[in-house]
Amino acid sequence: MDTKHLYEISQKHMWLPFTQMKDYEEAPLIIESGEGVRLKDIHGNEYLDGYSSLWLNVHGHRRLEIDDAIKEQLDRIAHSTLLGAANVPSIQLAEKLIQLTPEGLTRVFYSDSGAESVEIAIKMAYQYWQNKGITEKTKFVTLANGYHGDTVGAISVGSIDIYHRVYSALMFNSFAVPFPSASWHPSGDEQTAKEESLAAMRTLFEEHHEQIAGLIVESMVQGAGGMHMMPAGYLKELERLCGEFQILFIVDEVATGFGRTGKMFAVEHEGVSPDIMTIAKGITGGYLPIAATVTTEEVYEAFYGDYKEMKTFFHGHSYTGNQLGCAAALANLAIFEKENLVEQAARKAEYVKKLLTEINTLPHVGEIRQLGLMCGIEIVKDKATNEPFPAEERTAYRATLRMRELGMLTRPLGNVIVFMPPLASSYEDLDEMAVIMKQAIHEISNEKVY
Ligand code: PLP
Repeated sequence: MDTKHLYEISQKHMWLPFTQMKDYEEAPLIIESGEGVRLKDIHGNEYLDGYSSLWLNVHGHRRLEIDDAIKEQLDRIAHSTLLGAANVPSIQLAEKLIQLTPEGLTRVFYSDSGAESVEIAIKMAYQYWQNKGITEKTKFVTLANGYHGDTVGAISVGSIDIYHRVYSALMFNSFAVPFPSASWHPSGDEQTAKEESLAAMRTLFEEHHEQIAGLIVESMVQGAGGMHMMPAGYLKELERLCGEFQILFIVDEVATGFGRTGKMFAVEHEGVSPDIMTIAKGITGGYLPIAATVTTEEVYEAFYGDYKEMKTFFHGHSYTGNQLGCAAALANLAIFEKENLVEQAARKAEYVKKLLTEINTLPHVGEIRQLGLMCGIEIVKDKATNEPFPAEERTAYRATLRMRELGMLTRPLGNVIVFMPPLASSYEDLDEMAVIMKQAIHEISNEKVY
């Protein structure tokens, strides 16, 4: 392999997502293979996968059962369209998903990415009311600082300034209610933040429910917003309010689904059953791009009728319901069952909590937030006041580059270091990752101060 040529071509012709290419030029990385929780670059350097290859790789890399399922499916067919015709693995996967998702959800609409599953949820919720003849319900409500993907529809119901400001002229307007985080509330009190957020939601619903088609929220954790957890009881109360005001409740489980928070789906922490739920990432164990929007029968029925009535849901892409992806998802979910992976993940999360407590002793580590194996480590200049380092110093980013040198990969979210190891990480892997994070954070954050 001519590594020099690969670098040259990657810098000359590639354009990487969510990446300032100058950063890539300064610190290029080309992955060549993976085995278990480790990735290997073209020079043979190994890296622990501390962010599950963007929060989705569940079992590590090259998991035999999933590899075999894909190979077996290849011997039958790689792909045929789902437009007007189902295929075998997509039917089997739908049955499985309906068993696993909360009671009340009965219909699976496939797509290829988390953002698309959200686009579909938005279009469905909108058209649901149109099909029922309630045409004024066209608006959406979101939580401030939420992230639901990067397509124009998905950013219109998201509100992370750094991602969304650039495209504001393209977006439709949504209502945003403050997220109930103690760390953002002036009182620093979770209960007060929760009560105020719910009161704001109620006021908004009272004033605008006739225009509101749906409320969309991330499930229990605002991930890309910096790993902020909802207080207990909050999601349940949102479900109740949506029912009271006849607003569709859409829960985004793209990041939190498939064991990530110590439950199969994070809604289980609250016993919530939404009208529409979006799932992606871990669905194929991080192998292939499958996503789904899962709905109740009531939502589905609003689309059922004669072609003449124009109730058809107009959405579907070339690769929707791809057989290889569905076969990978089925093998993935079989491993979940065989290995009791969700319970294992919950136990590992307790272990990680202890490791993170150790990291929390560092002078420049502020809040550490965690639900299951979904963790964020905030890097601060001043531990007492939580004052961050100046953004231009990119302290968390530099810490992740140092981690890379020490043999671990992850990506920062502003001043927060993401720690989302594969659920299948061993206790030794987790120890190793914690040692690397501690060393890198210590070195980088002290560099500027002393
Ligand atoms: N929704 C949530 C909550 C996410 O965290 C993400 C991605 O991180 C998305 C949607 C978008 O998913 P995808 O990157 O597969 O489009």
